[in-house]
Amino acid sequence: MGAEYSGVPLAPLVEPLLRWYTAGARVLPWRANPTPYRVWISEIMLQQTRVEAVKPYFERFVAALPGVVELAAAPEELLLKLWEGLGYYNRVRNLQKAARCIVEQYGGHFPAARNELLALPGIGAYTAGAIASIAFGLPEPAVDGNVLRVVMRVAADASDVADPATREVVAAALKPVYPAGRCSEFTQSLMELGATVCLPNGRPKCEVCPLAAFCRAHQGGVEGKFPVKAPKKPRRVEARTILLLCCEDRVALRRRPSSGLLAGLWEFPGVEGELDETALDALLHTAGISALSAARVGTARHIFTHLEWKMTAWRIECPLPADGYRWVTVEELESGISLPSAFKAFRSLLRRRER
Ligand code: SF4
Repeated sequence: MGAEYSGVPLAPLVEPLLRWYTAGARVLPWRANPTPYRVWISEIMLQQTRVEAVKPYFERFVAALPGVVELAAAPEELLLKLWEGLGYYNRVRNLQKAARCIVEQYGGHFPAARNELLALPGIGAYTAGAIASIAFGLPEPAVDGNVLRVVMRVAADASDVADPATREVVAAALKPVYPAGRCSEFTQSLMELGATVCLPNGRPKCEVCPLAAFCRAHQGGVEGKFPVKAPKKPRRVEARTILLLCCEDRVALRRRPSSGLLAGLWEFPGVEGELDETALDALLHTAGISALSAARVGTARHIFTHLEWKMTAWRIECPLPADGYRWVTVEELESGISLPSAFKAFRSLLRRRER
């Protein structure tokens, strides 16, 4: 008996998908010369980021750091600069940690086995499957949101796609139908169909889909009902007060704690809560910061996966650069220092006021 998912045999999907993919796959920079390194970097960048946005980042990154050895040895500031704007900075830190493991444990050669890939920092089941199948041609499924959507619609299956168990079941069902010698194309064809044809939010282009004849959701006219996702917990909203401590042409930065949100990155100092003038005075006094003036200069919000910051910034003119901070010029902020996107609105505010 062939592999099936939710009662739908999967083997008949393979040939039509491969034919469709070979005839019209998008040209993407990481598809040319799909070495394990290039597949890995692109897949990590593509997590939470659109293909069009990733393209220039990918080109810049692999030009500056063309392989595992260069990545392992790269200075942190360069890494963060290459990643600036992509967010989720732990991803690039993990890239470097994994590169160092590959250099130390495998002499700089990428391991091909799924369990060895999974043991590397920042590589989960999806990325391991992508590298093993796309770069090494192994029958290892890579099941992301795009692939899940295709399979759930084809099978008209209402399993919760936010549940990791659903991914595991789908991966186990796909593995036996991987076509020998064409594993790379098969993984990419599933991803490509989800990204360009079997679109989310009830907008699939079934009229051009190579799987239309097999798709239960399409046959029942209920494409929009799948995939099913259990509702997320609401995102927590946190008010923050940001301190733009300025001394002549410099502004103060500090490092964030080495674990947790935006770990180890530079930031403008800030505290939880929206402070009024009295509370701000008390805070500055406690911190030993003398101020010539303080003015509320702007607000911004930033959305993380589970948290939203609603920030209010105060510009505080200081007579002297207080100890415990790194004091930098606006030009240094723009060219040499990587500042998380959460604070970008305030950086441009500083720039405007400098002119
Ligand atoms: S027929 Fe439509 S719903 Fe079914 S897989 Fe193709 S695009 Fe998706």
